[in-house]
Formats: sequence, structure tokens, C-alpha cells
Amino acid sequence: MPRIVVVGSINMDLVTVAQRFPAPGETLLGERFLSVHGGKGGNQAVAAARLGAEVHMVGAVGDDAFATSMCEELKHEGVDISHVARIENCSSGTASITVAGGENEIVVVPGANAHLQPSHVAKAQHLIASADAVLVQMEIPLETVEATLRTAHALRVPVILNPAPAQRLPTECLQLARYITPNQHELAILLGADADEDFLSLMRRAPCPVVLTRGAEGAWFREESEPQHQAGFAVDAVDSTGAGDTFNAALAVFLHEGLAVAVRKACAAAALSVTRLGARGGMPHRTQLETLLA
Ligand code: ATP
Repeated sequence: MPRIVVVGSINMDLVTVAQRFPAPGETLLGERFLSVHGGKGGNQAVAAARLGAEVHMVGAVGDDAFATSMCEELKHEGVDISHVARIENCSSGTASITVAGGENEIVVVPGANAHLQPSHVAKAQHLIASADAVLVQMEIPLETVEATLRTAHALRVPVILNPAPAQRLPTECLQLARYITPNQHELAILLGADADEDFLSLMRRAPCPVVLTRGAEGAWFREESEPQHQAGFAVDAVDSTGAGDTFNAALAVFLHEGLAVAVRKACAAAALSVTRLGARGGMPHRTQLETLLA
């Protein structure tokens, strides 16, 4: 059972479905409301746990009712939350999403995620030291991302940086990652390149190995050699939310089997994830993945 440490965000997505968006100052009756557990960190932790890994989450929640619900949900999925900090006088991370006429408007409040410090990573150092892989995304402070990369690198534990949402990062920081896992748009931002630069050219000049996701087309990966392609798995796609999170989790879980195998399994797991609604709704359990790959 691979041991995975995820350092990242935990959010509650608050989704309101309405006929239309309210005008500024207007109050509108909505049609439906649902709250959904999210955050890239939490999502990747859940996806890795469903694939059979021993997962430890390093994150932060506030002191509100969402915090309890989010922690219970992670525990229920089998994720160890002993390194999820409770931040006093602070809200948990939220994304308020209004959906109307096929469009959405989103306001994200990082809340406690913004208080996840390098010191929290330091406290989890013993877990990182014995991990098979570490996963980190960019919905937490950059200094904490950097501390995670430095800690894992110093301990010779492979660390996967999922650079989403994309921001520019110093080259020496990127070089600490065993792999970065952007889509084309994120890689362009990360390298400060033109938005229209060809993805293969971006991959060739990245300062570290890249696994690039390409939606239904699958993924490309490059260590030292030329980029190689792994085709996507044909499925009836329903909702691609969370495909990237499932992909990253599976990559981490199967990395010990070699990069090409891990990318193939990540494409398969992510393809299964798009067949159901919601970020976590379609994240496959190990047996479902084995059935697809058989
Ligand atoms: P998001 O942030 O919405 O999760 P992303 O841009 O990070 O997405 P994508 O490239 O859209 O990531 O998807 C990640 C992986 O999921 C792809 O590399 C692919 O393997 C798989 N995938 C996505 N969409 C489909 C699809 N329609 N059919 C099959 N596989 C898919």
C-alpha cells in the first residue's frame, strides 16, 4: 500500500442554481442549493485513498461548522487528518458558486487555507520522510508550496507539483519537483511563455520533468527524452470536474511502478472520474480501475 502525503487546500463548495444571475443589489429566489466537499488538496487525498493508498492530509480548516463536516468526510474516506490544523477565528475555505443558464460565477475565499504555513509542513516531516510520494497544489501560500518541495526533495521523496491555479514560480523551485503536472495553459503561465506556444515546445524547455494533461486526448510525459503520448481512455463523459485531481492522485499512487505505467493508470482513473457528476462523485475505487485496465 503506497503511502501518500497531500499538502493542500480543503474547501466547501456552496452551489446555488438559479434561473439567472442577480443584478447588483438585487435579491433573487434560487432553484436549488447544495454543498459539496472540495479543494484540490482534499480532492486529491480522497482520490488517492479510494485507489487504496494510505493517505495523510496536511491542510487547514477554520473553526466553523464546515470544518467539522470537511474533516469527518475526509476521515470517512479513509484519509488521516491528524495534520489538518484548526485555525481559530477563521472561516474554512469556501467557493460560492452560482450556476445559471449553463454559466457560473465563483467567489473563492481561501479562509484557513491561507494560514497553512511552512511550520505545518515541518510538523509533518516524519510522515513525508516515510512517504512513497508527496502531492502539492497551489491553492495554499506559495511559501508553503516551496517548503513542501524543499522538504520532500531534501528527504529524497518524489514530490509531484500540480501547478493549479497557475502562477509563475522561480526556476529553482520548479527544479525541486520530481514532476510537474500542468495542462497546457498552466505550463505556459508557469514558464512565462506566450499563450499560443506549442505544448511540446513548452515541455522541452521546462526545467523539470513534465506530465502534461490534455483532456480527452490523454497525457504527454517527458523526463530526459522526447515527450511521449499516453492516449486517453474512451468513456461517456458527463462532468470533467475533478479529472485533474484524480489524475494527480493516481500518478502519485502508482509512481513506484514507473512513470509510463503510472501515467497510463492515471489516464484510466481520470477517465472513470468524468463519467459521474461532481469532483468526487466519479473518483474510482481500485477495483473499478482494475476492471477498466483488465
Ligand atoms: P480540471 O482542472 O478540470 O480537473 P485539468 O485541465 O487539470 O482539468 P484535464 O486535462 O482536463 O485536466 O484532465 C485530466 C486527465 O483526465 C486527462 O489527462 C485525461 O487523462 C482525463 N480526461 C479528462 N477528460 C476526459 C475525457 N473526456 N475522456 C477521457 N479522459 C479524460
